[in-house]
Amino acid sequence: MSEPLLSVQNLIKVFPIHGGLLRRQTGSIHAINGVDFHIEAGETLGLVGESGCGKSTTGRCVLRLIEPTSGDIQFDGRNVLSLTREELRALRRDIQIIFQDPYASLNPRMSVGAIIGEALIIHRLAKSKRQFEGRVAHLLETVGLEADHMTRYPHEFSGGQRQRIGIARALAVEPKLIICDEPVSALDVSIQAQVINLLEDLQQKFGLAYLFIAHDLSVVEHISRRVAVMYLGRIVETAPARALYASPKHPYTEALLSAVPIPDPESKRQRIRLRGEVPSPLRPPSGCPFHTRCPIAQFPLCSKEVPKLKQSAEGHWVACHFR
Ligand code: SF4
Repeated sequence: MSEPLLSVQNLIKVFPIHGGLLRRQTGSIHAINGVDFHIEAGETLGLVGESGCGKSTTGRCVLRLIEPTSGDIQFDGRNVLSLTREELRALRRDIQIIFQDPYASLNPRMSVGAIIGEALIIHRLAKSKRQFEGRVAHLLETVGLEADHMTRYPHEFSGGQRQRIGIARALAVEPKLIICDEPVSALDVSIQAQVINLLEDLQQKFGLAYLFIAHDLSVVEHISRRVAVMYLGRIVETAPARALYASPKHPYTEALLSAVPIPDPESKRQRIRLRGEVPSPLRPPSGCPFHTRCPIAQFPLCSKEVPKLKQSAEGHWVACHFR
């Protein structure tokens, strides 16, 4: 079997907390707690969980926009954590990121052409002004905008159009992997589907791989080949998308899925309401991180022992003592 495009093993990120007059370290936040996953070339892995579970931090660690505390990240034969500054620059051509907020992620003082073309200049991918403009025009058309939009400014566009500009910017350097960090969460539902369809078309056309981060399982259902569910810095379940939606194993995934509306009114799925809030990563619970909210927790086992990810079916892994 060939090596995956991206392989992440035992990824850990701890943020120190500083306080007091002397700004001494007073605590730490365990944002990511031993995360493992891989992505094959051309496939989409959906990474889902409530806000604050560590999914965006995971995406940023892959690009080293945030330095991981420890772990191993291999991308296309390269050890990401040992790259030099120059090698890291080359990596950031192969891995791009699309951000959640299309309003905040585009510089309002730059024209659309300058925003999309910035990476062409950084990576020296256009040899003349004519070539530069030709590539920017082509990128705009590729994402469903018009070539003459390059002279306009971000405030002249709707949220969906701005996200298309962000996608064109990511495509400019011909990446192999795009980290899509909640790319449709800030958009109206009617626009969300258009942006997801565009991402699917681009994947087919360019053979792109996506790490698609979302807080809602319904968003990643159609675009993902596999889905990983995160809770308090850990992956608690990962499976082929169809298996996860048809037969979730982890009680947390069951609860998330029970909140997804079903189009068929005849089909009844009972909503599972979780008690309490997600605990603070400043003071994560002992044992299974989900035990304070889990409807089937058994004590003392669940509050003492962290469940390991076990394979329950082909490609379907779950971290629960009882599943
Ligand atoms: Fe619930 Fe225990 Fe399973 Fe954790 S290990 S999900 S607390 S049953």
